[in-house]
Amino acid sequence: MNQVLRAFIAIELPAEVQHKLSQIIQRLQGQLPNVPIRWVKAQNIHLTLKFLGEVSLNNLEAIKQVLVKEATGFSPFEFSIGELGAFPTLKHPRVIWLHVTSPSELFSLQRAIDLQTERLGYISEERRYSPHITIGRVNRHADAEDLNRIASVLQKTQTGLVEVVSVSTVTLFRSDLHPDGSVYTPLAIASLKKSNPEKR
Ligand code: ATP
Ligand code: MG
Repeated sequence: MNQVLRAFIAIELPAEVQHKLSQIIQRLQGQLPNVPIRWVKAQNIHLTLKFLGEVSLNNLEAIKQVLVKEATGFSPFEFSIGELGAFPTLKHPRVIWLHVTSPSELFSLQRAIDLQTERLGYISEERRYSPHITIGRVNRHADAEDLNRIASVLQKTQTGLVEVVSVSTVTLFRSDLHPDGSVYTPLAIASLKKSNPEKR
């Protein structure tokens, strides 16, 4: 039997950071009552590196090996989170997210993982990788008035620099979609290069 699961590779955020981001969600939620948006639950907030989609259980081991091998080639780095954005645009919001500002390491790490998982058959969309942290998705059935209200709140909300996050691991997650929200489960956690221990 060829069993499959839905999977993606991401950077996990510490619980304190998830909590802080969910405070921004609560603030927006308060300004947008009764607007059809599926806000991301605190424990689900993450930074996606590569969406794999349907993965055969037979391929899981090879994906984990790629992840471990690529991760060890990178030293830990930091990225910062702040200011709201939306796809396709802030004026026409469908996916609501927070900007990620990062050093080139994040892009190199993402590219390495993308390339090596493509070799296993997991081809990405053509679009250039644009790091972001999704916090909400506007329901397909939102009407023009809803969209205008969302756009106006997003455009007037300033978050400033929300958080600086240290990255030392990369995680392979399975994603189980449920009507009341997706459930993510870590399947493998790969460490970046261990920094040289300080001399004592
Ligand atoms: P739901 O789809 O029910 O809203 P979700 O988006 O949280 O749930 P998944 O669809 O499994 O769960 O997505 C897991 C991660 O991969 C999320 O960060 C999502 O934004 C990202 N993702 C999903 N589909 C794609 C895609 N086609 N291209 C790039 N990233 C994707
Ligand atoms: Mg999705």
